[in-house]
Amino acid sequence: MNQPLAAPEPVDAVVIGAGVVGLAVARSLARAGCAVWVLEATSAIGTGISARNSEVIHAGLYYAAGSLKARLCVQGRQQLYAYCAERGIAHQRCGKLVVASTPVQVELLRATQAKAQANGVDDLQWLSRAQARALEPALECQAALLSPSTGIVDSHALMLSLQADTENAGGQLVFHAPVDTVALAQGADGRHWVRTQDGTCLAARTVVNAAGLSAPTLARRFAGLAADKLPTPYYAKGSYFTLAGRAPFRHLVYPVPESAGLGVHLTLDLGGQAKFGPDVEWVDAPDAFTVNPARAEGFYAAVRQYWPGLPDGALQPAYAGIRPKISAPGDPAADFCVQGPQDHGVAGLVNLFGIESPGLTSALALGDWVAQLLEA
Ligand SMILES: Cc1cc2nc3c(=O)[nH]c(=O)nc-3n(C[C@H](O)[C@H](O)[C@H](O)COP(=O)(O)OP(=O)(O)OC[C@H]3O[C@@H](n4cnc5c(N)ncnc54)[C@H](O)[C@@H]3O)c2cc1C
Repeated sequence: MNQPLAAPEPVDAVVIGAGVVGLAVARSLARAGCAVWVLEATSAIGTGISARNSEVIHAGLYYAAGSLKARLCVQGRQQLYAYCAERGIAHQRCGKLVVASTPVQVELLRATQAKAQANGVDDLQWLSRAQARALEPALECQAALLSPSTGIVDSHALMLSLQADTENAGGQLVFHAPVDTVALAQGADGRHWVRTQDGTCLAARTVVNAAGLSAPTLARRFAGLAADKLPTPYYAKGSYFTLAGRAPFRHLVYPVPESAGLGVHLTLDLGGQAKFGPDVEWVDAPDAFTVNPARAEGFYAAVRQYWPGLPDGALQPAYAGIRPKISAPGDPAADFCVQGPQDHGVAGLVNLFGIESPGLTSALALGDWVAQLLEA
């Protein structure tokens, strides 16, 4: 994209952003016969939110019945396990325990169980303290829910596979191609003119804004799109700490969820390394990824609720991710916001806002759904 073009190059579809969601959308469009260009600002796939998460395949426990998060998580999880098995992508159906440490949390856990059932998650098992400790002797809790269909995945291998599928179906990825503006519905054929910062312009029938943390601010630079329905972006940083030494757990362990996140949980990577996080810290801009070692204090307190044996000095600052929130601090978490032609009236345009967790789990289902929205 270093040679500015004299006139816009006509293409079928442009996907802005090569994170897991943009790649899944590109794959679905390419497999539906569309000639897709994925324009990515940086030098590689998966360097944004998709590089800084827990890599958990969520079962779909937490989300309001009928929400996009509930539907796409359950469907996406099933698709993801099948896809990983078919393509040999490293993953593990290790299961997780959601644990209640107080009587109030036991009630909240009951509510989570009911919510999960309404979402079609039908394999949960309620465990007494003794049953939970029989599975995980180091665990302390009053009760727990076992979710056998929760797992972990090598998210980078997943993204490489999505890239390969897109390219095999004729799609192209272009790096160092930050999109600057989009002029919607231009000329006699009503194509969208997508301009990158170096002045290159593509004339696309279809544009999907999958720019993650930047998606709402980028959409404000789409000429021809009413700004009144665009969400305000908020950013909730989540820091992680790794555990020195091996964890005495085989399952992922989650507390009962908090309002803006799922609580400081224990996840394992495919090599068995344990990490704790992410916590919640609202920040003004999506650009501060260093972990403040002082936050460890809050982590010790949170983790010892369910693992009293966590040794002093065992937590090491690891990395941080930032959630692309579209709900303000203190407000209930918003659903995924997928705005298609039926929402804004512009044919061939889909904006993806607020694709926080469970976006990794939901990616394949989101990709198919965006492709369907554009067909309609
Ligand atoms: C702390 C944390 C933990 C999480 N844990 C989990 C989990 O365990 N399981 C789960 O299912 N989900 C999890 N998620 C959610 C999941 O990581 C995201 O939903 C998913 O990665 C979002 O992918 P994306 O493609 O939308 O965004 P990104 O990965 O950020 O991709 C967007 C891309 O767009 C590019 N871009 C931005 N602006 C432009 C532009 N103007 N032009 C061109 N390119 C541009 C960026 O460089 C980036 O590569 C977590 C999220 C966070 C923050």
